[in-house]
Amino acid sequence: MGEPWTVVRHIPARDETLTIFWIHPHFSVYNEVWVAIRARLGRPLDACWWCHKHFAIGDRIGLIAVKNKTNKVLCQPCVAGLSPTHEAQA
Ligand SMILES: [Zn+2]
Repeated sequence: MGEPWTVVRHIPARDETLTIFWIHPHFSVYNEVWVAIRARLGRPLDACWWCHKHFAIGDRIGLIAVKNKTNKVLCQPCVAGLSPTHEAQA
């Protein structure tokens, strides 16, 4: 048998259709308290799930419930972009 070896297989990008239950536009604010709590929980949640943009201190954090996934955090442009009306809800 010998030693194992590695090869690289390219996985093509694919589109995934998601079902959204709700979006909470202003779930929280990215601040020192958020950072401390998330660090304690071992999940930093310091970037938008959708666009991967890193939050800045003071940014509002949205929360989205997606079918078959744990709830995810969103930046405000993505809150607006993913909402059914394509506008952030108050
Ligand atoms: Zn985003």
